[in-house]
Formats: sequence, structure tokens, C-alpha cells
Amino acid sequence: MKIGLLALQGNVEKHSQILLQLNFEPILVRYREQLEQVSGLVIPGGESTTMSKLLDTTGLRQPIQTFAQQYPILGICAGLILLGNALHSDADINTFGLIDVNVTRNAYGRQLDSFVNDVVVNLKDKQETIPATFIRAPRISDIGPDVELLASYNHEAVAVRQGRHIGLTFHPELDDVTLFHQLAFGT
Ligand code: GLN
Repeated sequence: MKIGLLALQGNVEKHSQILLQLNFEPILVRYREQLEQVSGLVIPGGESTTMSKLLDTTGLRQPIQTFAQQYPILGICAGLILLGNALHSDADINTFGLIDVNVTRNAYGRQLDSFVNDVVVNLKDKQETIPATFIRAPRISDIGPDVELLASYNHEAVAVRQGRHIGLTFHPELDDVTLFHQLAFGT
């Protein structure tokens, strides 16, 4: 199965490796034609402001919004920001509104710009402890009723799912955690 990696900005190499490990075929998505070939999409970390602008200049915003009605999207960090509700603080970021969460950007402050912590993932059939790397991470402040909590850190949601879409505030690809790619796209 072909899975797209939105490659407008940010690092997609590690996601490629994880997808290959899970026997998916990673396809870099920069144009609409590439999106038409894939059955799932990773929106990687990066800068959500830049990514939001590039979604408009490349004309990918509407195709992705339509794609999401049929296929799963895994949003990492900036990717989660783009999947969530509109941000009141940043009018220049337009989001997809696919996961009903309110998100605050860069919310851990300067000293905690980047940190690694163990996080417990709670799934219906199993519980798993994984390392989670947070980089200028956003914080989820409100969760809508249709959103499932997959993992929390310090009593705050850090991994959420709504329908077929998953959003994470940390970077599983940096710790070779394959679980979320697997959950999002199946095996
Ligand atoms: N701070 C970035 C943003 O607000 C997200 C950081 C990341 O993706 N690692 O867009």
C-alpha cells in the first residue's frame, strides 16, 4: 500500500524508514497528482505557519481536505496543529479541523524546547510504554467529545484519534516507534 508523506517542509526521511519497515511504500507528496496515488498521508513536524502557507501556494489544501473524507491522516506536531481546530492566536495558520482539539503552539517554554519522556499509550487491547521526543511541541488544551485519547503525559493528552485520523504532539519517528503509523494505516 502506498502512503504519502507531505513533503512541503520539514523532515520526512525518518517517516519513510518507518513506513518501509511496516511494508508500506512511501511516496513524497508535493503535488496533487502524488496525493491521488496514495491511501494515507503523514503530515510531518516542521513549522505550521510555513506549511499552512505552502498548502495554499501548492493548491494542496482542498485536495487534502477531500482526501481526508476517505483516507487516514497521521499528523505529527506541526501536522497535529494543522489537523486540529482553528487557532485563535495565529490567524495566518489555517487548519483542516479534522480532529476536534484546541492546540497551543510552542507551549512548553524555552527551557523545555526539546525533551524526551516515557509516555504510556492506552489502546483497547494493550498498554505500551514508549519514549516520546517533544520538539517545540504544541499542547492540547481542549478535547472534543468524539476524540479518543491514545496517550497522555503529565495528565495532558499527547496522542489523540478522531475517526481515522491520528495526531501526536511528539515525534515517534525519532525513537523508531512504529506503533502510530501502524495504527493509522493498518498493517
Ligand atoms: N513549533 C512548531 C509549530 O508550531 C511545531 C514543532 C514541530 O513540528 N516539531 O509549527
